[in-house]
Amino acid sequence: MKILLLLLTLAAASELYQRTEHYDDQIVVKCELKESFTERLGTLLEKDFVDLWGVDEEKRLHIRLGNQLWSELQSTLPECSVVIENVEEYVSKAEKKPFDKSNPEPSWFEAYHPYDDIVAWYQTLGKNYSGLVKYVESIGMSVEGRNIPAVHITNILADPINTVYFQCQLHAREWISAAVCMNIATYLCENYGKDEQVTKLLDSLQFVFVPIANPDGYEYTWTVDRLWRKNRRVNPGSSCMGVDLNRNYNDHWDEGGSSGSPCSQVYHGSFPASEPETQTTQAYFGAQNGVIAAVDWHAYSQLILRPYGYTMKPSPNEEQLSAIGANMSQAIYSVHGYTYTSMAASGLYLYS
Ligand SMILES: [Zn+2]
Repeated sequence: MKILLLLLTLAAASELYQRTEHYDDQIVVKCELKESFTERLGTLLEKDFVDLWGVDEEKRLHIRLGNQLWSELQSTLPECSVVIENVEEYVSKAEKKPFDKSNPEPSWFEAYHPYDDIVAWYQTLGKNYSGLVKYVESIGMSVEGRNIPAVHITNILADPINTVYFQCQLHAREWISAAVCMNIATYLCENYGKDEQVTKLLDSLQFVFVPIANPDGYEYTWTVDRLWRKNRRVNPGSSCMGVDLNRNYNDHWDEGGSSGSPCSQVYHGSFPASEPETQTTQAYFGAQNGVIAAVDWHAYSQLILRPYGYTMKPSPNEEQLSAIGANMSQAIYSVHGYTYTSMAASGLYLYS
């Protein structure tokens, strides 16, 4: 009987995470980032269901759209060509079996994990490294009422005043983002007292992680639509849900690269910081002492993007920022030989 119950439980768990949205009528095109194209990109992204994915190594922008729309637009987009002919096939191929909790191998980092499991994982990290980790269950609620947690990692006894801020999983479908934060958190905890550099870092500053900044959107990518990007706001007067949280911050809101249409993937919301997730992360970031560095982790592109995004004007800290970007790029290359290009965010296209 026990075996039967266990089987039933496992079956229920995998059914829970069976997406219902399918993408057979959709393709992905790659577009050369020529000026002629970036000038028209804003108008293109205004269209409903045109979806920006990422930038490849040759600096071509990948965009998902419907077959039908592509046949209408193809002649007006000479900079673009098809790179994925059937998004459904591509997504199914990328999907792996859900993590089997009864079998801890392969390791945690060889699978992706839903919201509840990630939350539990950080709680366990807090228990295992109580001298280093402070787990904050909720810094605020999502629009559907889920907790947005935070995790502080430092030598708690040293109580340093400076902060490095990492934000993950703001865009729901970019699953590698949450995994990167967990990986960094693990590395810091496991190497404190063993690795000189890590020990020095945790004695002199705190790392603040917001590991799942968009919990509703993230959960929705497991249950319904793997390619969901926004939060799960019900937009009054529209059948389309969600606000692009990364276009909702109150800094230069609606100054480019976003849309006022609720159906757009880059819908900026009805006013600056209209979303609880945006308000929460803005307030938590602002409440930290001495923030000396901040990274918002996204996917996919091999890019290190620095300010500004809303204007071509260089940041007053351009010299420092470009030096840091070059160091980051070099550090990444030295580990696995992957080239990450460091550039001002506005070098791709303007957005805020
Ligand atoms: Zn993103």
